[in-house]
Amino acid sequence: MQSLSSLVAGQPVSAREVLTVRSPYDGSVSGTVVLASRADTEAAVAAALGFRDTPSRHQRAEILEKTRMALESRRDEFARIITSEAGLALRESRYEVGRTLDVLKFAAMETLRDDGQIFSCDISAQGKSRKIFTTREPLRCAVAITPFNHPLNQVAHKVSPAIAAGTPIILKPSEKTPLVALRFAQLLHEAGLPGPMLSVLLGPTAEVAEPLVTHPEVELVAFTGSVPVGKRIAATAGYKKLVLELGGNDPLIVLDDAPMDLAVTLAAEGSYRNSGQRCTAVKRILVHEAVLEEFTERLVERTREYVCGDPMDEATRVGTVIDEASARHLETVVAEAVQAGARVRIGGTRQGALYPPTVLSHVPRDSRMVVCESFGPLAPILAIRDLDDALQLANSTVYGLSSGVVTRNLDHALKAIRTLRCGTVNINEVPGFRVESSPFGGIKDSGLGIKEGVIEAIKAYSYVKTFSLPW
Ligand code: NAP
Repeated sequence: MQSLSSLVAGQPVSAREVLTVRSPYDGSVSGTVVLASRADTEAAVAAALGFRDTPSRHQRAEILEKTRMALESRRDEFARIITSEAGLALRESRYEVGRTLDVLKFAAMETLRDDGQIFSCDISAQGKSRKIFTTREPLRCAVAITPFNHPLNQVAHKVSPAIAAGTPIILKPSEKTPLVALRFAQLLHEAGLPGPMLSVLLGPTAEVAEPLVTHPEVELVAFTGSVPVGKRIAATAGYKKLVLELGGNDPLIVLDDAPMDLAVTLAAEGSYRNSGQRCTAVKRILVHEAVLEEFTERLVERTREYVCGDPMDEATRVGTVIDEASARHLETVVAEAVQAGARVRIGGTRQGALYPPTVLSHVPRDSRMVVCESFGPLAPILAIRDLDDALQLANSTVYGLSSGVVTRNLDHALKAIRTLRCGTVNINEVPGFRVESSPFGGIKDSGLGIKEGVIEAIKAYSYVKTFSLPW
């Protein structure tokens, strides 16, 4: 059990209200967190704004690398914290720790890379003999707000690029999964990160998140979470940089020439990994009618391999969703779809916060389950007539995060890449495939098109200064 505290400039806040974090699987206490107050929020901003001793690139890279080594030696401990507070299967939590190690490694590498440019100015009749140079400067204070579904990796994707850029950051992690975020912050401070460069605040929205979002001296808000909260932040943040990574309902398109085994593997992995709680999880499977029945039967068979149960059990592949209310929500959207003609082919029976991998066929195109974002291990199958029908259906929702297309036909693949209105198109891969340094992010209601991934995020967490010299 973890007994932790919100951190202002690396220091625990004075004890007041305490949050108890419980396992979604059995309700056992995973840990406690001392909550921050409005005054702590102001103190964190003041500490960031007052900070002047930005470590050198070398020192920042060392901090990230030392943190990586510390996390490497605590892989199992961190995986167990994630599982205890999020209910994710231990194998998923271990995978997440591995991804976080990559984030730290790539951020350390990028810290050492200077992307400054030089422009000779004698290249036009209007120019003269000078040179223009660019350099990146840190922001004075950034704020990051993160969701529950990748409670460590989402935090690493905000904090590591900020450190790489030399920008002090205040993190507001999800109240459902604060423990791993706070333990990660401890590792960073132990590795030498100056206190004012990272505060981690948990507390009531009106005392922490909202004052941070609206604070006139905060220069950037990076938010990952749901569309309604993201849009509220966009409406209230005022004059500052915004990075919004919001929800998705990514399609996996399976054409009639798809390698069938690969299509089934991608559908299952895309729908069930991380208990289906990934922004880029497969949330709609659009299958050509010529292969519909074969695909459905094979996916049902494959789904039997995804054992759902005690997340700490090594044999479990799908743990709980984040809480019982979320599992009940899945129950409701499945019942609505069934009412409208869908058929449950396997799964569909909730037990507390456990909702098993569930395949549905004959899902109507206007079901809430597929028009909106269902955050759980659902695999809703919809029939498509041809590629054009699939692309039209894929583009028909408000989301535009990512997508996957399974085909052997290069013309079809290229047409899909050109036509799908979303941030990523993966051919013969799950929509969620990425490496931690590649540009990532959505359009439409999924985001403003400003990408994350370590390299893009460092750009967001810094300003480009241009200067020129006579030459
Ligand atoms: P959420 O309910 O929007 O919460 C996200 C964060 O926002 C939490 O830290 C939450 O704090 C905070 N928050 C709540 N109300 C706020 C307000 N008024 N102002 C500022 N912050 C506020 O999202 P979630 O349920 O944790 O996460 C699931 C969602 O995240 C899904 O929609 C998923 O698709 C999306 N997501 C997107 C990406 C991406 O990269 N596009 C990646 C992962 C997840 P509390 O915990 O204290 O409420």
